[in-house]
Amino acid sequence: MENKMKKANMGTKAVWAGEKDYLVHGATQVPVIPSVAYNYDDMEEWYEVAVGRKKGHIYGRNTNPTVQAFEDKLKELEEAAAATSFSTGMAAISNTLYTFLRPGDRVVTIKDTYGGTNKIFTEFLPQMDVEITFCETGNHEDVEKEVAKGCKILYLETPTNPTVKITDIKRMAAAGQKAGAIVIVDNTFATPLNQQPLKLGADIVLHSATKFLGGHADALGGVACSNNEEYIEKIYHYREINGATMDPWAAYLILRGMKTLELRVRRQEENALKLANYLKSEEMVESVFYPGLEEHPNHDIAKKQMVGFGGMMSFSVKGGIDTVKELLPNLTFAHRAANLGAVETTVGPARTTSHVECTPEERKAMGIPEGLIRVSCGIENAEDIINDFKEAFTHVKEAVR
Ligand SMILES: *Cc1c(COP(=O)(O)O)cnc(C)c1O
Repeated sequence: MENKMKKANMGTKAVWAGEKDYLVHGATQVPVIPSVAYNYDDMEEWYEVAVGRKKGHIYGRNTNPTVQAFEDKLKELEEAAAATSFSTGMAAISNTLYTFLRPGDRVVTIKDTYGGTNKIFTEFLPQMDVEITFCETGNHEDVEKEVAKGCKILYLETPTNPTVKITDIKRMAAAGQKAGAIVIVDNTFATPLNQQPLKLGADIVLHSATKFLGGHADALGGVACSNNEEYIEKIYHYREINGATMDPWAAYLILRGMKTLELRVRRQEENALKLANYLKSEEMVESVFYPGLEEHPNHDIAKKQMVGFGGMMSFSVKGGIDTVKELLPNLTFAHRAANLGAVETTVGPARTTSHVECTPEERKAMGIPEGLIRVSCGIENAEDIINDFKEAFTHVKEAVR
């Protein structure tokens, strides 16, 4: 059974992996176990579990069966040796960074990380006397040069938010390994279905499970996976003490959402490509950013390291924020919201979504125009989505005239 699971395709794993041990009473679905504590009649057994010599659960901040089923599923999907979970994606990122970084350490990263991650690098880590070097996203020589100077962590994210830039994970991981750095990749946008950073040489892969993994914008969560069990033990220990534990109800919702991961993501990326191609022909559109487009500057790298190009894209409009303000309220089949990866299409400018934490100057420095609209493509019928955009653009042109 276990061997068969390891060899199974992603869509099959998304449905079946990690669940078997938790299906008590013959249940076909993983039960939610909200219990905060666990009873032990045998004092010796309680002790053995409490000190970690025997498997079992003691207290909800440490472990929970429903949450563990989610961790086991992710472990299978990323083909990792171990995984641990968190209350949110940001908890996964911050807890992992704080586990390994000490005053005087250096981190090399890219300019286009997720807004919250960027804030950790610009605000919180410098307070701890950790030095952060930001490289131009997609400039591989720059990253190699900086990493070679020595660093504790090389932190990457690909594709990036919101302009979907691509970093060559294999090449960057090799540079990181050579310098003795821990290579961390935020794999939220791609999901394990489209990209497996550990196989490309990364040490730790992180996800916001809130996005594509859960897929229904109704639960927050995060996860860290690695082939180095000691790394995951250390991160788990930091998390169990600091307390950013995943809620069992959230774990259940994300597990349920994950069953349809392949169906959703394949449909989302089909829609993204169709929408991107339509937007290229729209006269009010300046640029379209989608790694699935041949003219995307890193299309070749994306093709090499990704199975599919994902459901995230963005485009910039003529007339900047004024056009955005006219356009977005006129869409019927899209939420104007800050989340992404859900079954519904969501749209929003970077200034209220991915980079709300940044000042206009910071966004400008990152190459994010104020007229940029991020689109997380949903699973609707592409024809309806494209018509919706066409009509909204017609409205904008009439309003401007
Ligand atoms: C949303 C997101 C995060 C943060 O996840 P939360 O669950 O909102 O804390 C981190 N990285 C990326 C790429 C994201 O899109």
